[in-house]
Amino acid sequence: MRRFLLLTALLLFLVPAAAAAENSRYTYTFYGSFDTVIILTGYAPSQDAFDAAAALCEEEFRRLDDLYTPYLHSEAGNNLWALNNGAWKEPMPTDPDLIGLILFCREQQAAISPVVNPALGRVLMLWHDARMLAEENPAEAAVPDPEKLRSAAGHADFSCVVVDEEAGTVFYTDPKLRLDFGAVAKGYAAGLVAERLRGMLPSFSINAGGNIVLCGAPENRSGAWKVGIQDPNKTLYGDVTTLGWIERTDGAIVTSGDYQRFFVVDGVAYHHIIDPGTLQPARSVRAVTVITPDSGTADFLSTACFILPYEESRALVESLPDTEALWVLPDGTVTWTEGFGLHALDE
Ligand code: AMP
Ligand code: MG
Repeated sequence: MRRFLLLTALLLFLVPAAAAAENSRYTYTFYGSFDTVIILTGYAPSQDAFDAAAALCEEEFRRLDDLYTPYLHSEAGNNLWALNNGAWKEPMPTDPDLIGLILFCREQQAAISPVVNPALGRVLMLWHDARMLAEENPAEAAVPDPEKLRSAAGHADFSCVVVDEEAGTVFYTDPKLRLDFGAVAKGYAAGLVAERLRGMLPSFSINAGGNIVLCGAPENRSGAWKVGIQDPNKTLYGDVTTLGWIERTDGAIVTSGDYQRFFVVDGVAYHHIIDPGTLQPARSVRAVTVITPDSGTADFLSTACFILPYEESRALVESLPDTEALWVLPDGTVTWTEGFGLHALDE
């Protein structure tokens, strides 16, 4: 029996607790961080023990969202918005967790692919503004001016971001460069939060708007978490929205899909993941879900796999240790790597 279904990019199915469980299952849902619903489900010896973990979880997500947002000034200190507004004038001190994210993305670009490029901030801002305008006034929806996109793309060299780890500062050597960590910040943050919760709860899952982190076997009958995979062809608000489900005890599961954020101009949907080659929304696949041990890597990888041509994306996943993926191709074909372990809905 499935107790309930969470309508997010990935769906977490919960199975009944075994009769002799030592810990009870608790859930806490909160809004307001990373523009999404975040659900912590954990096994704990008492409500108080769970509540302490849930409070830390919410506090940390809020702090990291505040640090990684390019849209708003932060009272807490120099966040990404502050760097984008001043780190091109002089080296600017910032939080170690922001420096950590910059360095993480550099490593990921080398290990996975440079198609995910946080230095595309100016290009991404043009697409973001077009989407916001379209949401406010659909009749006037328009795609960004190609000339402006090209000029913005001329200031997207990530190596122009100079990090001085000892001084704890960041400096942009290109004064027009802007950073945007939308492709990876939520998954990276979920990974940091999970690390903090590890010592507090015997087992838990975090579902941050479809970025899922699993830590330890739940005390239910199957001893694993069940995670549903969203079907991009069905509406989020319909009854059946999953392609199937997988079972896991640990690791991160993240989906990138063309249905997550988009606007429509002349009947064409323009979504939020941009191919740096064309500066237009990538069209290789409809959706890709990746499973890999580290949450930040899962988020970076899902975006990279969405942008890359399918064959390249598959070869990349198959070359990475302990990594699996599922793709929904433009013609609706669903295909996955051998170890993905997709179960049919009626199983
Ligand atoms: P995700 O949903 O994790 O695949 O990330 C999508 C978000 O990543 C978008 O909303 C943008 O903020 C950002 N993004 C889109 N395209 C790129 C790109 N080529 N490189 C870096 N970030 C991107
Ligand atoms: Mg991502």
